[in-house]
Amino acid sequence: MTKNTFTIGRLFGIPIKVHVSWFLIFILVTWSLAASYFPPRYPGWSPTLYWGVGLATSIAFFLSVLMHELAHSLMAEWNGLPIHDIVLFIFGGVSQLTEEPEAPRTEFTMALVGPLTSFALALFFGVIWFLTRGSNSPIAAFSTYLAYINLSLGAFNLIPGFPLDGGRVLRSILWAMSNNLERATRWATIAGQVIAYMFIFFGAWQILRGRLGDGLWIAFIGWFLDNAAQTSYRQVAIRYMLADHRVREAMTQACYPISPYITLETLVNNYIVSGQRCFPVMRDDRLVGIVSLSRIRNVPRDTWPQVTINAVMVPLEEMPQVRPEDGLWAALEKMTTQQVDQLPVVKDGELVGMLLHENILSFIRQRGVVRE
Ligand SMILES: [Zn+2]
Repeated sequence: MTKNTFTIGRLFGIPIKVHVSWFLIFILVTWSLAASYFPPRYPGWSPTLYWGVGLATSIAFFLSVLMHELAHSLMAEWNGLPIHDIVLFIFGGVSQLTEEPEAPRTEFTMALVGPLTSFALALFFGVIWFLTRGSNSPIAAFSTYLAYINLSLGAFNLIPGFPLDGGRVLRSILWAMSNNLERATRWATIAGQVIAYMFIFFGAWQILRGRLGDGLWIAFIGWFLDNAAQTSYRQVAIRYMLADHRVREAMTQACYPISPYITLETLVNNYIVSGQRCFPVMRDDRLVGIVSLSRIRNVPRDTWPQVTINAVMVPLEEMPQVRPEDGLWAALEKMTTQQVDQLPVVKDGELVGMLLHENILSFIRQRGVVRE
């Protein structure tokens, strides 16, 4: 979900990103409000007013979704869970946690605070509508729509299927009851899939009754929910599998050390061509750094005969390391948070292997966790 996103700013130190699909939704919402939703309900406005109120409503809708996500994020940080970023996309948003909650109570409050924020916003806009209903039709139109949309947003997210907020609330309750997060996740996922199929069947039934537009929309939501349930469950399954295995089981040992004094040209011709993908840099039998393929790619090709490894390597002090007995999940988290694609595996100060991102991927593939 981090692909095709743009960072639009930061709030409380959290990067706020927008998925490209949001621009499409933004245009679609503005257009449908101005062209077909407002005109029959509020006749007699000028075209400029329809578009102006449409645009303002879309922006406030966007801010409402943002506040819902921000509530999750701030509650997470309050509980000591760092937030990586907030991504707003087609059906709302995702607050990306770098860690999962440690206790059912934390997950319960974190999940519930989002829909509660949406309900609070619905109430707020409802009050504005109540105060302006007879006197100011543009503001009344704007606030009715936002009250309705925030109510729907809160209610939709409370559907008790993982990974929706309601599904997380359900999972936290099952987790507290069973003391087993994996089993709780499985049950909450099944609940999510059952609800998804209900949406799909109901959508299909509507289509058969001739209500094509509504039916397709409902079926699409069902398909989306089913997909989300499967993807989230797979992530949890992968996390559990990786946590059970050690770095030494997946690391590469075929990493012949290179000297810091050779040039990039030599490295590419002698090592990369022969298939080596990890490059520990050793000086006087001591590991001093790592060279990654992405680093090499950033150096202009015509300078390769002059540039030495010393100039492009990541010094060891700046490299996060792992030990052979560390869990694979912890190692993967380290790679993600430090934004590196390989980690030196060090035991008693000595390099015993390299853990590459692709090592972890093929480990997951071999274990057959990912069913396609
Ligand atoms: Zn939410």
